[in-house]
Amino acid sequence: MTVAMINKALRKYWIVLFFVLIPLLYALNKNVVIAKALTESLSAHGLDFSWRIVNLWLLGANIIFMLAAIFAIQRKIMPSCQSCKKGFTPNNCGVVIATKNCPYCGEKVIADNP
Ligand SMILES: [Zn+2]
Repeated sequence: MTVAMINKALRKYWIVLFFVLIPLLYALNKNVVIAKALTESLSAHGLDFSWRIVNLWLLGANIIFMLAAIFAIQRKIMPSCQSCKKGFTPNNCGVVIATKNCPYCGEKVIADNP
């Protein structure tokens, strides 16, 4: 593994995350409108909920989707240590680059330049 590989993975991580989070942020922005429309269609089927409760559930689902997307993209894109198999995160990539070692097990991850 090289420093360039880690930097490339970091760049890809932020770009993919940005495009995945756009629809979720848009839904978060329109949460009240979606909740009111959903409440009306549910009451047409005989299910009476307050739109505020539906709004709260949508909010919770959106936040869960966001966290799941962040962790899934991290696992998919970021490189991991060969010895302990733990994936690096954007937060500890700086430690990996500066020390050339895995922040979890301490094994050398980036080879020294000859
Ligand atoms: Zn390790």
